[in-house]
Amino acid sequence: MSDIERKLASVRLIAGLRPIPGADMIECATVDGWELVVKKGEFEVGQKCVYFEIDSFLPVREEYEFLRKSSFKSTKHLGDGFRLRTIKLRGQISQGLALPYAGSEPVGANITEALGVKKWELPDNHGGLIVRSGSKARATFPRFLRRTDQERIQNCFGQIQSLPADTLFEVTLKLDGSSMTVWHKDGESGVCSRNLNILERDREPWLERIRSAGEFLGLKPGLLDRFEDGLDWLKCKIFGGRPGLAKQQSVFWDVARGAGLIEILERVGANIALQGEIMGPGIQGNRENLPNHQFFLFDIWDIDHQRYFSPRERADYLSAIDPDGVIQHAPILGYLSRSYFGSVGDILRFANLKSLNHPIAEGVVFKAENGQTSFKAINNSYLLKEAA
Ligand code: AMP
Ligand code: MN
Repeated sequence: MSDIERKLASVRLIAGLRPIPGADMIECATVDGWELVVKKGEFEVGQKCVYFEIDSFLPVREEYEFLRKSSFKSTKHLGDGFRLRTIKLRGQISQGLALPYAGSEPVGANITEALGVKKWELPDNHGGLIVRSGSKARATFPRFLRRTDQERIQNCFGQIQSLPADTLFEVTLKLDGSSMTVWHKDGESGVCSRNLNILERDREPWLERIRSAGEFLGLKPGLLDRFEDGLDWLKCKIFGGRPGLAKQQSVFWDVARGAGLIEILERVGANIALQGEIMGPGIQGNRENLPNHQFFLFDIWDIDHQRYFSPRERADYLSAIDPDGVIQHAPILGYLSRSYFGSVGDILRFANLKSLNHPIAEGVVFKAENGQTSFKAINNSYLLKEAA
């Protein structure tokens, strides 16, 4: 679960080819655990190809012009290019793009940079809540922590399959919020977003006063939020700045304190980090429609030993430091042994489930009992419905 540099474009092998019922111009290829539609006859099994994963943003070049109609995007933050997303053709899910490869790089070579491929992201996607703004962020992500990340099952199924058949996995719901880490080290505490260590900024006292007055009058939190947004916007208009920034930054700390995380870490005094997903208004469109911001823990990082607790150790540790169950855990769907899944398809079918409050979950995350191996399976229904 180390920091994963995403291999968006790489040299791979066409592992299989099969017909698509009712289609004579196209067929279905497999590349590792990915399935994608290719032109019929373009490849042979075992042939080298360049495989571009979903979320690749390809540069505007002659050889990609055939993508213009389906995939062209013009953006401020990434420039112009072609965005690859999950699609369905003749009832067949198709993820990514394979093109014949004539170069000399070996299978597995990462040619993302060489081809000028970028990762497609919305301007304010992950951790985009915390825009890099120098003075507002305390510092870059501390080196004694590990960024949360998960490899996709389509890229690591072979590795998973080589584990003993009885390897047990904890399966948790993948929550579509923003990564949040609350840490304690040698008497000091901190809160991080996906990429930054955040400065605790007290809310502005006048805002606080207006808010408590509103609460006293029985105004709904949603209404108070909107009122605050308006005031924030006005303040930025007059004094400059980016609306929402200070408020969002304080959200991480509010949650860390409000959910009792800082208090628990300070009481325990150990050098550990609680990692989870922050969910709620203003985060990833609040798909779950949560009325307020909440933290869902999914990992504990042992700072002194630079390792993740295994699911079992995490559960034991949590019941020791938090006997009253103050800390909310990401929903645990169950424990499954490796042998339960024969294919990537099995795992993807499992990932097609409902979320906390949304009929379509983002997916699931598997964490092996050995505390070392983990991966994510993103729900294809989620990928297909996700905004274009
Ligand atoms: P992605 O959101 O595709 O970048 O996938 C990795 C991220 O999933 C991690 O960085 C976490 O922020 C997030 N995540 C959400 N739910 C979970 C979970 N149950 N276990 C681990 N990571 C999770
Ligand atoms: Mn995410």
